[in-house]
Amino acid sequence: MPLLDRVVRRIHDEHCRFRLSDDEVKDIEDMVLHLVKDLLPGRLLNDSGGRYSIAEVIEAGSYFEQTKIQLPNEFDFMLAVDQLSGEESIFLSEGCKPGYAHVRVTEPQIWDTTSCDDDPERRFEIALLQFNMYVRESLKLLLLEPLRGRFGQLEIKEIVVRGKPFKAFSHVQTLTLLYSELRCTDTVEPGTTLLYERLSTEQKTDIEVCVDLMSCCHLPLSAFKNILPEKCFENEALSVNGCHVVLKSCESNSCVEGQGKCRLISYTKTEQGCMKRLDVSWKVAYRMLKWLFQYTGVLEVDTYKIKTAVLHCSSARGQGEAVPVGEGLIAILRVLRKSAFSDNLPGYFNPSLNVWSVRPCYHYLVKYEMIFLLKLFTNIQKCRDEGQNVDVYLDVINAWIYSFCSHAVEISKMAKTSTSRLEQFNWQGNAFLDILKDAEPALKNNVIFSWIPFQLKCHVLCDVFKVLSLVFMDKIVSWLRLNIPLL
Ligand SMILES: [Zn+2]
Repeated sequence: MPLLDRVVRRIHDEHCRFRLSDDEVKDIEDMVLHLVKDLLPGRLLNDSGGRYSIAEVIEAGSYFEQTKIQLPNEFDFMLAVDQLSGEESIFLSEGCKPGYAHVRVTEPQIWDTTSCDDDPERRFEIALLQFNMYVRESLKLLLLEPLRGRFGQLEIKEIVVRGKPFKAFSHVQTLTLLYSELRCTDTVEPGTTLLYERLSTEQKTDIEVCVDLMSCCHLPLSAFKNILPEKCFENEALSVNGCHVVLKSCESNSCVEGQGKCRLISYTKTEQGCMKRLDVSWKVAYRMLKWLFQYTGVLEVDTYKIKTAVLHCSSARGQGEAVPVGEGLIAILRVLRKSAFSDNLPGYFNPSLNVWSVRPCYHYLVKYEMIFLLKLFTNIQKCRDEGQNVDVYLDVINAWIYSFCSHAVEISKMAKTSTSRLEQFNWQGNAFLDILKDAEPALKNNVIFSWIPFQLKCHVLCDVFKVLSLVFMDKIVSWLRLNIPLL
């Protein structure tokens, strides 16, 4: 096995595997699935007096893709609302930016409203929010008693609406459950129910399990004609699954206030299928990167960006094909570095969508981070595997994480101060040089990394010239404008 593969697998096994036994993981999964898929639909139909029903519960998020790391404490679902799905109930039109659509109910008159002047777009929003309210109430009623599993139980802690900008109008609601282990008491006589007792406080290991529920409407792909680019219609899986529209709005000023905001189109169901089919080697590389980037999370390189890069890389090699895990890692990092340079990462299903949204205050830091990581791992890749101990390589990665984390507070402060381009660059360049300085002893310790600090400093210096020349050009142009009015 190549040296890089050994390094990646070692990090993966140490930091990414679940910290619970397989039995307990399965137990939590079974209980959550039972709650959301078996119990919730019936209860909701009943509680809403037949007004709302769930057409489909869609598994979403990393747990079901088998890419969740460390703890099975996050389960995401999308709930497709029956009454708000299909072309007979919903009408779509182009949104203000790619990947978004305006959504209207086709027959506003069937939705009795207290204010009859609600327009069809507003009516859609109200209906989804009302559906969400029923979901929350039904779950509270279903969880009056804890759910019992084979090894533990889940009890409700809270269910809240979360997100920006106004909590009450957010599109995601999170149910927080507490998982606690149960210990079987005594031997069980045939025919009697199993008796459990909760472990005493010292033994108790409560885990908070979050269940995110996002409601949406489902429409066949044909409803998105003129809204999604041609390329989407070539995707076979998308044609079969159709797309969903969620309440998340464009948050842009081009949609006029009061006329309704356009809503995000989701490809989650198809994306889940793609992720599940990936060879396990891609998943190992992805999980390892998720772990690594969680320490630099402030820089906004979130898991969705990494996932998009994974999907691009894996499809370039043929979906489902195996790849040496180190090679996969390098390919993903290359895509991320390219995005950091160009500030662009096309969505996998909708290439007209740019999923790379890193604010200018972090632009350079992210770029240097990507250059650094790619250098680190390609240098390991170049080494012959002679059975050497991989600890020395892990030390370098730990040193990088440590020095980044020790500057995390000052880095996060940067986003709050809006400054000029020059100041922003200055600040980021200096912050990166500080981080590099702290990690330098560990890098110089190993001959294969000893050039990295120098190479990175050259990158920073190069940008100094670029930024200064841009500032200089700006100054000349504004001077000319002042002195030669015709310009
Ligand atoms: Zn919009």
